[in-house]
Amino acid sequence: MKRAIIVANWKMHKTQLEAKAFLEEMAKMDLPSTKEVWIAPSYTSISVLEEMRKNLNLSILIGAQNVNEHNLGAFTGEISAAQLSDAGAKFVIIGHSERRHIYLESDAMIEKKIAQALNESMIPLLCVGETEDQRAQGVTKKILSFQIRGALGSFSKEDLQSLVVAYEPVWAIGTGKIATPEIAEEAHQMIKKDLANMFGEEFTETVPVLYGGSVKAESMQNLMKQRNINGVLVGGASLAPDTFQKIINY
Ligand code: PEP
Repeated sequence: MKRAIIVANWKMHKTQLEAKAFLEEMAKMDLPSTKEVWIAPSYTSISVLEEMRKNLNLSILIGAQNVNEHNLGAFTGEISAAQLSDAGAKFVIIGHSERRHIYLESDAMIEKKIAQALNESMIPLLCVGETEDQRAQGVTKKILSFQIRGALGSFSKEDLQSLVVAYEPVWAIGTGKIATPEIAEEAHQMIKKDLANMFGEEFTETVPVLYGGSVKAESMQNLMKQRNINGVLVGGASLAPDTFQKIINY
């Protein structure tokens, strides 16, 4: 059966109290066993949510939104993979477009972050996606290839058994302009093709590719009908429990 992974990216929202209140609401819902629900809160809420999740016996994965590319050292304000894992993070979002564009993260840096996540047995959730200009110039395929090869080129398929990729067109993130299911599916096929060229078809079949960018509950049915869409990464609509639950229950 096709995996359906639904990831909340809370960005720089929610105090610990607010994060706990959200999880309390999640505990009241019957989480469908066919869907995987993941939440990436701020660093300060990871251990709090992980502890609460265990106590409530909720099958939700708690993860992080970023990780430093070094394993330790004099990097004021940064956080290491070991520290995230110690806090209870099971996955980490790497290469989100806000990190690439606001904090100027390069593909080389993203590759190192993936290595750090893998060293700590955390699932790397690699984000890729083109800007509006790049799409208008017809270079989407090339950009996705650069990003995939730049981030994953030095790994073997054995290293990347837990890899998850998210296609997040920059023009769709936080804009309300969701990609049509056809546009998303086409981009997912491009990503799968690159992965297949690098690691073979058999391995590629096992890599979930999620769509992210202005996802709402109403868009879920049509997105999830696409063969190569294995779930969604949700920003804005994951902040309130009721809208997030509607997305899970599409
Ligand atoms: C995101 O930040 O990864 C995202 C997809 O945000 P939004 O759903 O708000 O577009």
